[in-house]
Amino acid sequence: MRTFVIAANWKMYKTPHEAKRFVMEFLPLITRSLHRRIMIFPTALCLPTMLEVTKDHNLDIGAQNCHFQAEGAFTGENSPKTIADLGARAVLVGHSERRALFGETDSYLAQKVKAVQDFGMSPMLCVGESLAERDAGQTEAVIEKQLREGLSKADLQGRLIIAYEPVWAIGTGKVATPDQAEKAHKYLRSVLHELAGENVATQTSILYGGSVKPNNAAEIGSQLNIDGFLVGGASLEPKDFATIVNVSIK
Ligand code: PEP
Repeated sequence: MRTFVIAANWKMYKTPHEAKRFVMEFLPLITRSLHRRIMIFPTALCLPTMLEVTKDHNLDIGAQNCHFQAEGAFTGENSPKTIADLGARAVLVGHSERRALFGETDSYLAQKVKAVQDFGMSPMLCVGESLAERDAGQTEAVIEKQLREGLSKADLQGRLIIAYEPVWAIGTGKVATPDQAEKAHKYLRSVLHELAGENVATQTSILYGGSVKPNNAAEIGSQLNIDGFLVGGASLEPKDFATIVNVSIK
């Protein structure tokens, strides 16, 4: 059985004080479920606070990005070794904003996926097509390339989460239809099957991201190959994120 994962990507929002306040308001709102993993990806500077305030709760904290080297002369970067040492459990790799705004390529991201695994954390590899690529009928080719190249240095039997995030749906209010999302997820699972075999393909959680809101989460999450959400905007409000978590029981 795959774990249903509901993950919050806070992007460059929330100070440590605001993050702490979120946790205090959010925790009493969520209902208990065994087969569910809740993750929050705050800014790197909020990691220590978030790890401290969630330490007695069933909530995993991850980083939004890291360098692929453990240490070195990389001014301003965050090391996966440090992130793991703090107690974080995961790192987002290849979010579309990293690809588009910071020029991160598939081969560069492959090194990050490996580094995150090497330090015992789960990479959450994000893939997704642009609107022009979808309109040109290239969705499957694009996400397949991102998946294959992003995983080219990975331990395929190791910790791994995939997030399918169509770029045109991120922060736009335009959500993929359940059908569009399910089709892409099914395809990604078939590529995983080719790459790593049946076990990995059936066990790996593939999350959908792109304008997930309290009013559309249940329908999207009911699709066979959709194993959770990566949520941006709607994860910033405790009530909205808790509603998404609470409707997400499969
Ligand atoms: C994201 O940032 O990964 C995301 C999916 O954002 P939003 O939910 O706001 O579209």
